[in-house]
Amino acid sequence: HSKAMGKGVWSLFERDMNDRYLRRQLLKGELAKAIELGTLSVRYQPIVEAATGRIVGCEALSRWHHPEHGNVSPAEYIPLAEEMGIITKLTESVIRTATRECARWPDHVTVSVNLSSIDFQRDGIGQIIQNALETAGLPANRLIVEITETAVISNEADMIDRLTRIRRTGVGIALDDFGTGYSSLSYLHRLPLDRVKIDRSFVAGIETGDTPLALLHGITDLCHGLGLKITVEGVETASQLAIVRGSGKIDKVQGYLFGPALPATAIAEMATRMPAENAAADAPAAVAQ
Ligand code: C2E
Ligand code: MG
Ligand code: MG
Ligand code: MG
Repeated sequence: HSKAMGKGVWSLFERDMNDRYLRRQLLKGELAKAIELGTLSVRYQPIVEAATGRIVGCEALSRWHHPEHGNVSPAEYIPLAEEMGIITKLTESVIRTATRECARWPDHVTVSVNLSSIDFQRDGIGQIIQNALETAGLPANRLIVEITETAVISNEADMIDRLTRIRRTGVGIALDDFGTGYSSLSYLHRLPLDRVKIDRSFVAGIETGDTPLALLHGITDLCHGLGLKITVEGVETASQLAIVRGSGKIDKVQGYLFGPALPATAIAEMATRMPAENAAADAPAAVAQ
């Protein structure tokens, strides 16, 4: 920070070398405040039954709108919250909000919440989930927690133990983003899972020819053989939906074709509409038998 440096030189340096660091530092301070004050919000992305287009659940996604910096992506602030050791506060607030809002939706609609690997480093996560369900008056089987493989790598034994206890209470467990990163097929039977969410890069790859369709079929057969259900993420087009439905083994789909993350009231509205209307409005291809 030499004073001898001309102002122009410093701003160049700042722009080129230091912007990322400064933004991170700034966002960290603001994020801690936002979590503390509860100014983050939760939006819900519809999850629909592949065969009918009927909404059967949604995924709770955290949103941060900063008055000066605008919308900050969870891809940017979730890692910061993890680094700062405040992610479990965020998780708890998402679980509390999501269970409370889900309790007002029709009974067949579930809510899925993303957990971080850090959430499993302590014992408290099970209690946080139980408290939220009780406060909201929501049956455990209407909550699904999503975990990722990166979460498993860091603390497998503790994680399996904690997940097993959570699952025994009736909460569903889904393995998120399957097919990315360091996927290990052995997790599919080592973890206490109900469902696998196949990453959106898969669907995109099949349409472009980068991923052989046989790979999708192989994975779906494998999951079924292990008693796991499958959700496909990132369905954006009717032709992608057709590919997914063509496999006949995927019961749920999620993606921009059915809608982005929406306010809780929009989910309530979609869920109370007639299934056929849902399908017609949001997924024309899903209406055809
Ligand atoms: P994820 O759990 O895999 O969530 C799905 C992401 O894909 C969401 O991004 C969603 O908006 C996006 N998406 C859904 N459908 C489509 C589609 O058709 N096309 C494309 N291109 N994208 C689609 P989002 O909301 O930006 O979240 C990114 C990631 O941040 C999430 O990935 C999740 O890992 C993490 N995240 C979000 N909210 C939370 C949270 O409350 N807690 C934790 N621990 N992580 C969260
Ligand atoms: Mg997820
Ligand atoms: Mg995912
Ligand atoms: Mg993801």
